[in-house]
Amino acid sequence: MLNKIHDKFVPILNQVIARNNGEKEFHQAIHEVLGSLGHVISRHPEYAESALIERLCEPERQIIFRVPWIDDQGDVHINRGFRVQFNSALGPYKGGLRFHPTVNVGIIKFLGFEQTFKNALTGMSIGGGKGGSDFNPRGYSDREIMRFCQSFMTELHRHIGEYIDVPAGDIGVGGREIGYLFGQFKRLTNRYGAGVITGKGLLYGGSQVRTEATGYGAVYFVERMLATKGYGFDGRRAVVSGSGNVAIYTIQKLISLGAKVVACSDSDGYIIDEDGIDIDLVREIKEKQRGRIKEYIEQKGKSVRYVENSSIWHIPCDIAMPSAIQNELTGDDARTLVKNGLIAVGEGANMPSTPEAINIFQEAGILFAPGKAANAGGVATSALEMQQNASRDSWTFEETENRLAKIMHGIHDLCYETAEEYGVPGDYVKGANIAGFLRVAKAMHALGVI
Ligand code: GLU
Repeated sequence: MLNKIHDKFVPILNQVIARNNGEKEFHQAIHEVLGSLGHVISRHPEYAESALIERLCEPERQIIFRVPWIDDQGDVHINRGFRVQFNSALGPYKGGLRFHPTVNVGIIKFLGFEQTFKNALTGMSIGGGKGGSDFNPRGYSDREIMRFCQSFMTELHRHIGEYIDVPAGDIGVGGREIGYLFGQFKRLTNRYGAGVITGKGLLYGGSQVRTEATGYGAVYFVERMLATKGYGFDGRRAVVSGSGNVAIYTIQKLISLGAKVVACSDSDGYIIDEDGIDIDLVREIKEKQRGRIKEYIEQKGKSVRYVENSSIWHIPCDIAMPSAIQNELTGDDARTLVKNGLIAVGEGANMPSTPEAINIFQEAGILFAPGKAANAGGVATSALEMQQNASRDSWTFEETENRLAKIMHGIHDLCYETAEEYGVPGDYVKGANIAGFLRVAKAMHALGVI
């Protein structure tokens, strides 16, 4: 169930669908943004001229490459690598790399498109891009991961640079992978060009708070959103899907602000702990042991249940923070959450709620923070890392976290005020899409037809 769009945009959407056959997540992301732009075009007809919107829907460049690598047994594997350089009107392409078996060009395009708007919302000088591979890192040794990353970078390095395109992590790409990728870049170019990639370790050009930033930022956004209704986190029951980087630091910040997080998950199942999730134990299992979430029950005992093949969203909660993967929260899940008394949703992942789920939340008057606004703290802190690299400086944790909090409050207020200005108060989806679009469109308009 997708929303109606302005007549003017129907041919644009049809062309996107015809040209990007079968890439349903990409169609979905474009459809959602076009659904927000009707009012903008009547106020700013100049942004519909010179095929600006058509250009915005077509990536500037798409790179697809072979990634051959050798496993510990000596067998050769071939994966496919991608980098979609979506839009550079506001700055160099910026966005993460995802290593996950579901990756294909349509997934990377949807992520690159979303990233363009997200990055615009941060107010920093970064364009949109995304990349990755259909490589599934699960079960491979450290050496295998290293060889894969080296092979991936051997091709990618010709396409990136501090002023060209600056990758980072995403699902399946964390500190370890960034280290191997940067190491290979440095070796190939014979330059310590730290500004080419973000999410680096603190000893080699990384920024404080980058690891925590997406999760912390999402919680800051939701905190500000709750405050518009006079609510806070204290005593609230929360469910966070996932148990990767975004989920871990979302849970940690929620707990520190007084919420009780009762469940989290991985792609096999979820745990529910009525005493409140022990985040240090989750970190031990996921970050140190690289294990599965079900191991939590072995170490924690009684109050915990582990459930497979069932939706985490059927657990009653006040606050839901989907932080796993796209389209993980369906219309059915949304109906159940609403029935169970939900008050707010903050998307930590990119596009985790289906269009039907978003409609259900909005019609029920639930506070809904879309990923491209709520999870922008990660990329915003990447931009802070770029600033530190460029000035050969490094800031303290406290200073960096203060900046992140300020940026997230700024993004919240921009979305909130834009929604009011365009006659849809409280609609953060439209607020985010319109505010992001206005920045990108203004720059594209000024730069001419390129
Ligand atoms: N992958 C993250 C995102 O979806 C971070 C990207 C970055 O830091 O460049 O925004």
